Amino acid sequence: MANVRLEDIKRRFNNVTAIEDITFEIPDGEFWVLVGPSGCGKSTILRTIAGLESATSGKLFIGDRLVNNIPARQRDVAMVFQNYALYPHMSVAENIAFGLQMRKVDRKIIQERVMNVARSLSLDHLLDRKPKQLSGGQQQRVALGRAIAREPQVFLLDEPLSNLDAQLRDDTRAELKQLHQELGITTIYVTHDQVEAMTLADKIVVLNRGRIQQIGDPQTIYASPANQMVASFLGNPPMNILPAIYENNGFDVSGQLLEIPADVKEKLHLRQGHSFDLGIRPEHIKINTDAEGAERPATANRTQNSGLLSVEVKLVEPLGRETLIRAGLPGSAVVLNIQVGGDVRPRPGDRLSLQLDLNQLFVFDPKTGDKIL
Ligand code: ATP
Repeated sequence: MANVRLEDIKRRFNNVTAIEDITFEIPDGEFWVLVGPSGCGKSTILRTIAGLESATSGKLFIGDRLVNNIPARQRDVAMVFQNYALYPHMSVAENIAFGLQMRKVDRKIIQERVMNVARSLSLDHLLDRKPKQLSGGQQQRVALGRAIAREPQVFLLDEPLSNLDAQLRDDTRAELKQLHQELGITTIYVTHDQVEAMTLADKIVVLNRGRIQQIGDPQTIYASPANQMVASFLGNPPMNILPAIYENNGFDVSGQLLEIPADVKEKLHLRQGHSFDLGIRPEHIKINTDAEGAERPATANRTQNSGLLSVEVKLVEPLGRETLIRAGLPGSAVVLNIQVGGDVRPRPGDRLSLQLDLNQLFVFDPKTGDKIL
């Protein structure tokens, strides 16, 4: 096993800079996930670590070894791709054994390892089958098995679940996590699926346009995103973004005044009349039933009506345990996602008063996406 260290890695393709300023160190045995929108450079980083691409500049270490000039097959890493890339004419057992045979490992040891790997991936009853006689999930497990059997120092996984259907993806994701807990091999995993990132990662690296936006554990990244891109990327439904203008008493949001408490005002004191993007997650909005004397929002140090917005319900999606509501601000195109308990079922056309949890409000610079608050 080994740690993996990237120092100021850059990769250009002709005049396109695919990645730059890429610096991080993955401690031995951790599971790191690289996420970001299409084209942000995830695969380029992974392929550079694998040795399938070479860095234009910067240093790459696996363990203590500088590997920039070491060919892929000597880096002691195993990569699993989204399209499995199994040998169609070989059986499952032969596919799993392939890397070991290439390295002339003793036959008895190969047999033993193939059996162990097959057992841990529930493939032991399929060892004689050819890939085309397997389901997608089984094929992907064989691809994983082939990588595991080699006992590499580092696992590199490039969207390994993206060809599987939803149920199988969930199951295989859980298996992968379990496998990592058992084997403890340093793993770098590329995905654009934020659920995979949140559930699998010790640390998430969020990328955009070839640069690192934030590195942190999933909970920190979710609760304290570094900027608007990170805030919008992680979370489903995503964080609501409301364009607003700051005025004396609060934010003008599409003609409604969102009153805010004094401590927030203080921090924004010099920014009167400026535009901002407000960010609030769907689970941090409640339906304000105060008018009927029912639920009273906890606003000990807040003014009575701070954080209130009125909206019109557009769409209601009951999901059992919870209900997702899409609601529009009257007279504007802004639509909010609201996540409430499954027993709450407003109807399209209903007018609602919303209570935003102002302790959970983010304020972003609309031009740069930088977090202001
Ligand atoms: P996706 O999620 O769509 O796979 P990604 O985040 O993995 O995207 P990369 O494949 O790493 O992104 O690509 C990063 C950038 O580098 C993109 O702009 C891409 O077009 C460019 N790029 C990647 N490989 C090459 C290449 N061989 N030649 C030219 N440009 C390339």
